[in-house]
Amino acid sequence: MSRKLKILFVASEVHPFAKTGGLADVSGALPPALKKLGHDIRVIMPKYPCTTKAGKGLLELDLELPGFSGSLFQSELAEGVPVYLIEHDGYYNREHLYGEPGSDYPDNVERFAYFCRAVLEAAKKLDFKPDIIHCNDWHTGLIPVYLKTLYRKDPGFAQTKTLFSIHNLGYQGNFPHSQLKATGLDESLFREEGIEFYGQISFLKGGLIFADTLTTVSPAYSQEIQTTELGFGMEGILQKRSDQLHGILNGVDYTVWNPETDPFIPANYGSQSLSQKKQCREDLVKIFSLRLCKRTPILCMITRLSEQKGIDLLMQARDALDEQDIALLILGTGETRYESFFLQWNQDRPDRIATTLMFDEPLGHRILAGSDMLLMPSSYEPCGLTQMYALKYGTVPIVRDIGGLKNSIQEFSDKTGKGTGFKFKVLKAKYFLKSLQKALSCFNQTATWKKLMLNGMAKDNSWEVSAKQYSRLYHKSLRS
Ligand code: ADP
Repeated sequence: MSRKLKILFVASEVHPFAKTGGLADVSGALPPALKKLGHDIRVIMPKYPCTTKAGKGLLELDLELPGFSGSLFQSELAEGVPVYLIEHDGYYNREHLYGEPGSDYPDNVERFAYFCRAVLEAAKKLDFKPDIIHCNDWHTGLIPVYLKTLYRKDPGFAQTKTLFSIHNLGYQGNFPHSQLKATGLDESLFREEGIEFYGQISFLKGGLIFADTLTTVSPAYSQEIQTTELGFGMEGILQKRSDQLHGILNGVDYTVWNPETDPFIPANYGSQSLSQKKQCREDLVKIFSLRLCKRTPILCMITRLSEQKGIDLLMQARDALDEQDIALLILGTGETRYESFFLQWNQDRPDRIATTLMFDEPLGHRILAGSDMLLMPSSYEPCGLTQMYALKYGTVPIVRDIGGLKNSIQEFSDKTGKGTGFKFKVLKAKYFLKSLQKALSCFNQTATWKKLMLNGMAKDNSWEVSAKQYSRLYHKSLRS
């Protein structure tokens, strides 16, 4: 049996403490899955006001860094995984995690440079000498850099290896060169093989260059980010490091996403009690005052309203969609132009289109449960979790054939009865509509549709498989 490791898992958001997207879901579920494999894994994140669950039984430690001081608190995830929360009133005691809607906080460079330093100081204070520090996304990108510079001779990290996970290459943490001072790093790092990126400093690039191992959240995305089209300027580095870059598909936390036990939905159901899903549909008809025929399918999107999520395509397809006998529910927040588009659509067709511009987790569960189809026409998609949740809820995904969507959804064939959803390759409204048409005609064949729903519900995307893959990579990294 392989050695049990000490792992420090670092993320800027962790469900259920703080969440803006899939990163939080991963950070809340992967560590408990690794703990089940026997590892001593601990999670560390900033203490935002929304992390209220962190309120009790806290250990308070002072964290002194040159020029800053903060405190460390402790709470717990599933499987008794300790979660440390770094408090710094000036930096994290704000309403939002990264900025007011539509903008970033102007001091994000200081907020997350401090976070990276504080993580290392916290490990020392706790006398936790990690074998692996698992970093996630740009917010943690300076940790591998600090370890190879300011902390190079620190005995607390003499044996430590780093793994950096890319959850979305589109978010890079790039800041003006003039802000380098705020990181405490030396000017000599401002070079191409360092953290310089087109005249700016880049936290993400720091992670990509300095971490020992790189991962991303699906096998397809690990290939796509090595191309000019989807590499966001980092493709050259990723090509050079392709031997250390691995794609591991995210899993689903079925303690949170399971229609048989979900406390947020009006009726629990499973593959043996599929008829109960109807009550979830009726719930949606009522709360959104929809006017539907008995067999009108309900389509939904639960998503950040950003270009990545393919909203432009929906805008192009609006007229054609208006001609279909469908209802569409949108739950999302994001760019004003997309919010306005969906609000307008809702106003024009209140009986069929319902737009909710909020981040509302319980409502997300209810919409997923009561809908018939989920739309994810993403322009790119590192992994995507919502489509995997949809499978479990018998809500059939119609997705772009890209990234994690490609790896997690199999095209349905009514001839073989195999497959879990519908996919289209080219990001154009006509191809999306063709896929939708296929779905709609299948929806009209009750027995075929039931087969398709059951195929998805039977899929097992639990974290166990992915956790084992991470575990193997940690060991490999320590051997090299
Ligand atoms: P991404 O990480 O790119 O935002 P994912 O599909 O990987 O996309 O994960 C998004 C997560 O956030 C899912 O759990 C989804 O249900 C949730 N989510 C997104 N927008 C909302 C919203 N407005 N209200 C509730 N949950 C949301």
